[in-house]
Amino acid sequence: MARARLVAAPRWAPRPLTADEQDVLDLLLSADFPGAPDLRIQATSAQSVGGCACGCPSIDLLVADQAAPRAPMPGRLVPAELQVEPDADGVPGSVILFVDDGLLSYLEYVYYTDEVPTTWPTTAQLSVSLR
Ligand SMILES: [Zn+2]
Repeated sequence: MARARLVAAPRWAPRPLTADEQDVLDLLLSADFPGAPDLRIQATSAQSVGGCACGCPSIDLLVADQAAPRAPMPGRLVPAELQVEPDADGVPGSVILFVDDGLLSYLEYVYYTDEVPTTWPTTAQLSVSLR
């Protein structure tokens, strides 16, 4: 969800991505768009350094490999996203990705359910699309 400004987002020491986080990130970056090859290289050394105050699985990203190429992106929002299969009530969701200065920055789970999701969807529940 959009980062709440009223509550400080939690930060933590850099840790490797979980398998779920890596799967979601890799699937989103499987789309072809300008800068995608650079972001795929960055994703191989991406670490998690923080999260979202709401309790959803969104994470702040840090590219550990200082030599990884920066992606020439026109804006912060990556032009690919993941559509989350609608739940039993028909409520969909999406996963979007931000870059800062050409580096992976924030993987965000956008949800519309009342209940905060606490885990990433499985890749079987996700489909990649370009805006
Ligand atoms: Zn959240």
